[in-house]
Amino acid sequence: MSTELQELLDNNRQWAADTEAREPGFFSRLLRQQTPQYLWIGCADSRVPANELVNLLPGELFVHRNVANVVVHSDLNCLSVMQFAVDQLQVKHVIIVGHSNCGGVKAALQDRRVGLVDNWLRHVQDVRNAHQSWLDTLPESQRVDALCELNVLEQARNACQTTVVQDAWARGQAVVVHGWVYGLHNGLLEDLRMTVACAEDVHSAYRRALARVHQRYQDLRPPTP
Ligand SMILES: [Zn+2]
Repeated sequence: MSTELQELLDNNRQWAADTEAREPGFFSRLLRQQTPQYLWIGCADSRVPANELVNLLPGELFVHRNVANVVVHSDLNCLSVMQFAVDQLQVKHVIIVGHSNCGGVKAALQDRRVGLVDNWLRHVQDVRNAHQSWLDTLPESQRVDALCELNVLEQARNACQTTVVQDAWARGQAVVVHGWVYGLHNGLLEDLRMTVACAEDVHSAYRRALARVHQRYQDLRPPTP
């Protein structure tokens, strides 16, 4: 085995020992059950590690990650995670988390061919196409981050429209869907206020959050002389 991997295993042993020393019985308690309150659906990017960003321990956050934090109705992987989290674990919050300067979003925006993932990123290109005329009004330097935020809103709306979340709401289960974006440059999570707690609010919450994104980029523009 390479020395680099041995280093990871050594790190793990140290981490497990430190955790157990800090909280005796930590692992045996987790063995009996997990009761996370949150489902995080984020980008696979190594710079956006879910638990670390919100300072949560193992057992506190249920996580699904893919390239560009996409929620599609035909993705059995993501839907299965959502179904297990909502129906079995009874999480109270589903958080879609994008991040600034996302490589997947950038490739989609610029029609860059990367490989197999191009097919996956077609979903982000659909978002780009739906908002193309507004994106064209922005300086080029802002378009990637703007599309990252639009993508969060669209994927959060998709999450709201899954049978999993719709059924939970129909039976009166409290589940709130959120849209956040993480700033790679400052380590901060921003709430895009796409916050939805019932089926009737999906479209109005989306429209309000979209108007906020538009306004924020408008405010970034230098005043015209
Ligand atoms: Zn990304």
